[in-house]
Amino acid sequence: MSALPTIDEALALVLAQVRRLPPEVVPVEEAGGRILAEAARATIDLPPFDSSAMDGFAVLAADTPGTLEVVGSSAAGRPADRPLVPGRAIAISTGAVVPAGADAVVPVERTERHGDAVQVEDVSPGENVRPRGGDLRADGVVVEAGAAVGPAQLGALVAAGVVSVRCGRRPHVAVLATGTELQRVGTPLAPGQIYESNTVMLAAQLRRAGAEPEVLETVADDEAETRTALERGLAADVLVTSGGVSVGEHDLVRALLAELGAVEVFWRVAVKPGKPVAFSTRGDTLVFGLPGNPVSSLVGFELFVRPALLALQGAARPAPVFLPGRLAEPLPRNAARTELVRARVEDGGVLRPVRGQESHMIGRAATATALLLVPMGEGELAAGADVSWLPL
Ligand code: AMP
Ligand code: MG
Repeated sequence: MSALPTIDEALALVLAQVRRLPPEVVPVEEAGGRILAEAARATIDLPPFDSSAMDGFAVLAADTPGTLEVVGSSAAGRPADRPLVPGRAIAISTGAVVPAGADAVVPVERTERHGDAVQVEDVSPGENVRPRGGDLRADGVVVEAGAAVGPAQLGALVAAGVVSVRCGRRPHVAVLATGTELQRVGTPLAPGQIYESNTVMLAAQLRRAGAEPEVLETVADDEAETRTALERGLAADVLVTSGGVSVGEHDLVRALLAELGAVEVFWRVAVKPGKPVAFSTRGDTLVFGLPGNPVSSLVGFELFVRPALLALQGAARPAPVFLPGRLAEPLPRNAARTELVRARVEDGGVLRPVRGQESHMIGRAATATALLLVPMGEGELAAGADVSWLPL
């Protein structure tokens, strides 16, 4: 048996098949979670004018310290009504326009009012003034092409006057569960049945990755039924199947996909859980055959499907981002496969594996907050070892 591809090798094979989806214009309010197809640029300077960082008095720094006549006020939301002349002060509120002629603001806490005059402490030029364009310049890049739009990016885009952005289209993803034993939740289980849980889980993972899931009707391990469903799923940008990719006589998915013209890129990866994962393409459609065990599906999605979805949307860095941590207790390594151990992140970035690591144990996996990477190899990882992990 030839060596199975490693996780990195398999991911590279997946990403090599991705053709970016065409971009579309998206109103900024709806751009959260999307990936920019081109850089978004500021339409204005930010701040748009020299504004005060404090409530206090706009002054000429050279006049401080000293006692200055108060000749007016500048409140937020209105243009300054007059320029400042030397020897005078203008009362100013946070966010208000710093009047022409002023070069600093003395905070109110560092002043004493005496009727029409104010005694101010010393300030330096520029102190408590937010200069126009000090955050972003008009036409400067707010969010780079290939970056994801999260809350901070949304705030920056809107502050910079951006009304709409060009984003990679959301991938349309068909999801198909296969297995005669699968029953819809809410219906009593007959002997031998289990609840079909993978499609709900996968649909949630898909939405988080920016995709639009379409869950197809679950099929039994029946050739005709499965073929029809697969054909339908192959019309999507991506087809994700669950189950039926192992070596059992009821595992029909790979053979039927081949019959339908899909070309297999790999089957099986040196990973635990999720070894029997299959990946094929038909035209531009990417097909992921995830193993049916729920934890295998969960992990296979994070390792291979999410990166593909991000790449389809144009992400500059679609690969999973592993974080550094430390292992709470010794863990045996697997000589043949890299393992993704379900673990909890404890205080100080310490990772504690959860009890119950079998690939059917979705109940145990639900108590985990991390997938801890245990690279294949001999021996064990010692307690306290530096490890990498993926947030769950
Ligand atoms: P398979 O990959 O089809 O051999 O399935 C492996 C295991 O996962 C079996 O115990 C199945 O009953 C279970 N399984 C398969 N599909 C699902 C699903 N959609 N939801 C929950 N469990 C599943
Ligand atoms: Mg099955």
